[in-house]
Amino acid sequence: GAAGAVTAESVPGLSDSFPLCMQHLHSQLARDRHLRHGGRMQLGLFLKGIGLGLQDALVFWRRAFSAMTDDQFQKGYAYNIRHNYGMEGKRADYTPYSCHRVIMSNPPGPGDHHGCPFRHFSAERLRAALHKDSLPDAEVREVADLAQAGHYQVACTRHLELRLHHRRQQTQQQPDADIRLSAVTSPNQYFDLCLGCTKP
Ligand code: SF4
Repeated sequence: GAAGAVTAESVPGLSDSFPLCMQHLHSQLARDRHLRHGGRMQLGLFLKGIGLGLQDALVFWRRAFSAMTDDQFQKGYAYNIRHNYGMEGKRADYTPYSCHRVIMSNPPGPGDHHGCPFRHFSAERLRAALHKDSLPDAEVREVADLAQAGHYQVACTRHLELRLHHRRQQTQQQPDADIRLSAVTSPNQYFDLCLGCTKP
């Protein structure tokens, strides 16, 4: 998305179109009112990529970290957010992580929520997450089996295809079309594909 097109207020409404990794981070952030560094980087750069500008990012994270004082936020977190937008330090313009990077580097430890659910969740936990989308059992099994076999991005792509298919059925758009996409390579690409298909 274009820079500045997304506001702090509009993020929750867009989260329906997030991939599982970002839905997980977004819901854990709401639950804990905090995210550890790996999660802040993964979600923060993703949100930057969908068009959340720096000022809105500062508002979004300040509100999300509602248990801390302004002083704690400014001292502990605001710098890193500005840094991600190239406004501090080396002034590099950091880009969102690819799926490959999320899957292959920096695996989540206890208390971390970053990573790729298709790669880092147990089979049971992944199935539970997939069930939340109210996919039929057979489809949950199909996606979970792909992940189990090590085809993480293929599993994520199949999940997207099925979600899009069900959405179209609900909105009566091309109800019979079987959707086949090429493999998702980044959470931001997933978002673009998912959002594009919900617009009338
Ligand atoms: Fe996120 Fe990519 Fe994993 Fe999908 S395959 S959940 S977009 S990291």
